[in-house]
Amino acid sequence: MKLRVLVLGAGFGGLELTTILSEALGDQLDLTLIDQNDSFYFGFSKLDVMFGRKRPDAVRIPYRHLVKPGVRFLQETITAIDPVAKKVTTRNASFTADVLVVALGADYDLAATPGLLEGGNEYYSFEGAEKLREVLPGFSKGDVIVGVCGAPFKCPPAPSEAALMVHDYLTTRGVRDACTISLVMPFGSPIPPSPDTSKALLRAFEERNIRFVPQRKVRLLDAARKMVTLDDATEMPYDLFLGIPKHVVPEVVLQSGLAVDGWIPVDRTDLQTRYPGVYAIGDVTSVGTPKAGVFAEGAAKIAAASIIAALKGNKNPFAYTGAGSCYIEFGEGKVGRVDVDFFSGPKPQGIHHEPSEMLVADKDYFGSSRKARWFGA
Ligand SMILES: Cc1cc2nc3c(=O)[nH]c(=O)nc-3n(C[C@H](O)[C@H](O)[C@H](O)COP(=O)(O)OP(=O)(O)OC[C@H]3O[C@@H](n4cnc5c(N)ncnc54)[C@H](O)[C@@H]3O)c2cc1C
Repeated sequence: MKLRVLVLGAGFGGLELTTILSEALGDQLDLTLIDQNDSFYFGFSKLDVMFGRKRPDAVRIPYRHLVKPGVRFLQETITAIDPVAKKVTTRNASFTADVLVVALGADYDLAATPGLLEGGNEYYSFEGAEKLREVLPGFSKGDVIVGVCGAPFKCPPAPSEAALMVHDYLTTRGVRDACTISLVMPFGSPIPPSPDTSKALLRAFEERNIRFVPQRKVRLLDAARKMVTLDDATEMPYDLFLGIPKHVVPEVVLQSGLAVDGWIPVDRTDLQTRYPGVYAIGDVTSVGTPKAGVFAEGAAKIAAASIIAALKGNKNPFAYTGAGSCYIEFGEGKVGRVDVDFFSGPKPQGIHHEPSEMLVADKDYFGSSRKARWFGA
């Protein structure tokens, strides 16, 4: 008998889990991987697209390249999940399985921030990044705000990266002196688990005359007055708003009853939800690590090990440490890195690696090695 597995979402977590199960079980596996899109892209490629460093079609990796033993990919939109029956409905069919893995990521609630759609921009969706690619060349003077509209949000370094990259972008175009840049974030420091990385970022902001506004979120934008209101009612004028929208679970997850207080709770030891045989990994969960690809991948490894162990009647020998490395674009052709470990010690620890050109190559390898592992050479 083959193990029937349904993996919902072919993002960072879904792709890694699928790869491990295929490698370990091969023909004993009957895995269906479902995603609404026809291609994968790394979160960080949205920054490349937005600032014109790469073309949109150059960063998309079509799922048709995904060919693995025991795996079939279906491009379908999932419309219902029944975690008790382990049944999944899409627009065209329904499926049942022995094991269900929910890896549907986080969606954006643009309407939660009045004025964001009408008077601002967001760069967290691929479409938003593509739109900004057209908007940015037309901007040459005024106030830029990079603003976080809700927490938790994906990739905590990404707002700092956007602020540093927009500085470079405007400098290269010779218009930086005609602009101000502010960064509004709900944390007290840019990367709370790593004081050294936070210090390095604050130093970089100071050197580039970027104003850091800590402990604040953007509540609304008034497009007519070109004014942003923060959650303490402070107002800030803006001409260009680069937003990080409020994050939510996809609607289908909300309807399934899997989420509690907004996200899917899981057992940290094996990433299982409160429904036996139903796992959840990555951004869709409230496991306690930041919403980032590297943590989705770490969770996928533990969930996969647990599924394999259960099949063989064993207990999963690994524990989820919530450890991972995040690369940070510092501008001026340099990338830094922070190695964070959330669960091994009494409190999260982050080790800072100074920005360098060498780490640019490291980040490239991070992407290319995953692309090769998941999609073949
Ligand atoms: C600007 C930016 C920069 C980032 N930089 C980094 C970085 O440097 N390093 C890092 O580790 N992370 C980074 N991230 C975060 C990273 O992209 C995400 O945290 C990661 O992709 C989460 O993986 P996941 O598997 O949980 O979800 P995702 O990768 O988001 O995958 C979820 C999948 O589910 C699919 N889906 C959702 N709903 C449905 C449905 N109803 N039917 C069918 N399919 C559906 C989606 O199409 C998607 O493919 C960045 C994010 C952004 C926005």
